[in-house]
Amino acid sequence: MSSLRTYDEKRDFKQTAEPKGGKKKSAGKQHIFVIQRHHASRLHYDFRLEVDGVLKSWAVPKGPSMNPSDKRLAMQVEDHPYDYKDFEGVIPEGNYGAGSVYVWDKGSYELLHQDGSSFDKEAGKEIKEGNLKIRLKGRKVKGEFALVKMKNTDDNAWLLLKHKDDYAVKGAYNSEDFTPQRVKDKGVKEKEKMKAESKKKPHR
Ligand code: MN
Repeated sequence: MSSLRTYDEKRDFKQTAEPKGGKKKSAGKQHIFVIQRHHASRLHYDFRLEVDGVLKSWAVPKGPSMNPSDKRLAMQVEDHPYDYKDFEGVIPEGNYGAGSVYVWDKGSYELLHQDGSSFDKEAGKEIKEGNLKIRLKGRKVKGEFALVKMKNTDDNAWLLLKHKDDYAVKGAYNSEDFTPQRVKDKGVKEKEKMKAESKKKPHR
């Protein structure tokens, strides 16, 4: 079974402009990450890592932090197709994840540990074990991070943690401070539009 089946099932591609696409890889040995600001019913940030031709995905309600003392909840969600890395725009009202999507940061990433096995194998293993250690090379997020699965709790709950390194910051870190005002305004506007539209339609 393709790991993209859940992604496909949740979406009506006649209505949403989100990519359907199957597996694809970055050129060469590079692996990419993307963080998308998603102003849906609740604002959150989607953190995605290319592994074996798809984007492993986590929804981070508060967004990433560059402060190592922050523990950011990251709920693992369905794998997304590789092409989703470039998706920006509005998912229309009534659809899964309705709201605006903005590419907040992107770049390549590396594994901190890779002994012998291929990148995809190692990444897959660390995700399975619930302990993934990576180095992000983005414009906003940089340096070492860990994604650690929480024990004795909801199956999909992970923590996104910044490691102490030269890129780490002290003090409060709010990803919204690094979001352009026009993007914030558009998100609010689209939400208001959707609210108005849903009032016109009969309840489903
Ligand atoms: Mn989302």
